[in-house]
Amino acid sequence: MKSFLSSALTERRQNDLLRVRRIIDSPTGVKVRLGARELVNFSSNDYLGHSNHPAVVAATRAALDKYGLGSGASHLITGHSREHEALEEELAAFTGREAALCFSTGFMANLGIITALVGDGDAVFEDKLNHASLLDGGLASGAHFVRYRHKNCDALNDKLSGSLAAHKLVVTDAVFSMDGDLAPLPELVRISAEQNAWLMVDDAHGFGVLGERGAGALEHFGLPAEQVPIYMATLGKALGTFGAFVAGSRDLIEYLIQFSRPYIYTTAMPAAVAAATRASLTLLQSESWRRERLRQHIALFKACARAHELNLMPSDTAIQPLLVGDAGQALALSRALEARGFLVSAIRPPTVPPNTARLRITLSAAHDERDIRELVDVLAELLTKQDM
Ligand SMILES: *Cc1c(COP(=O)(O)O)cnc(C)c1O
Repeated sequence: MKSFLSSALTERRQNDLLRVRRIIDSPTGVKVRLGARELVNFSSNDYLGHSNHPAVVAATRAALDKYGLGSGASHLITGHSREHEALEEELAAFTGREAALCFSTGFMANLGIITALVGDGDAVFEDKLNHASLLDGGLASGAHFVRYRHKNCDALNDKLSGSLAAHKLVVTDAVFSMDGDLAPLPELVRISAEQNAWLMVDDAHGFGVLGERGAGALEHFGLPAEQVPIYMATLGKALGTFGAFVAGSRDLIEYLIQFSRPYIYTTAMPAAVAAATRASLTLLQSESWRRERLRQHIALFKACARAHELNLMPSDTAIQPLLVGDAGQALALSRALEARGFLVSAIRPPTVPPNTARLRITLSAAHDERDIRELVDVLAELLTKQDM
């Protein structure tokens, strides 16, 4: 085993693919402290600045006083508190659905939804760039696993037509997590309906930020809830807390409570975390200016990047990747940015396809315009130097 481990690690390092964890000494925010250094953070999914918002922290404290920390058991035993129940009702109301169910993480939600819904004799159809948790859910389900070219509805349609599976499940990210582009949801809705397939949307990066009320990608596209019967989103990104949920019909939720193993066989998230999310959900409604400010920041970033002719990917969301290609070069850029005070992660294979390493820049309502202008100026300067 010793030589197996060390050769795997050596190979990763030699290919510039070794991951290291950064140790953060401050709350998450647009300024983070690493040891003695303070960096401007362009790598967090805390798009609205809710993660350390006083209202979220206060709600967590109050719930801690009332419930303590640990939930003590799984939801089906004694772990399901009044806070969890209220959060699920509020999420259902906010997304315009009959019911919602919270999972401890988005990864578990995706695994738990897909494996409960399809299996042997069924087929699952996934965009090639779907999040790892969706792909793993499809693979673990035992259903025939089919991937289609990124956002290619014709390819999907052909694959669906050719399938003899008992049940067909189409699964997509709404906002692709490493690219920032949107799935063609209206088309996917139409094709799924025509082909008698079920449609599941993972709105991890849309929920809270897209749409007039922040209700996510379906609101952005004006799609009614019944057209996407399985809506999943996470709470650790724009909501700034932790966990995930699925929303849909009462029967879908009741079915998952009965049959979703990653829901059933795990400890419930702390009630205080559910309380934090409830506060964050209220903020979505009371501080809608945060969404507006984020939109302005995205426009500013794109305009500055365009002025410097940076190689941006086609995205209008808070995820603004800068395509680099080579993993070593992406890593070098990330390090050079850090030396200049900016935290921007290099995203490398296998998280993204070979030769598409990138800097994944994420914007937050909590950034200042100045942070954004400075980042682009420094990036442009570093890229010019790199060319020489
Ligand atoms: C982050 C993410 C997840 C996983 O959610 P966690 O709560 O972090 O486990 C699932 N899907 C997508 C698209 C994501 O970006």
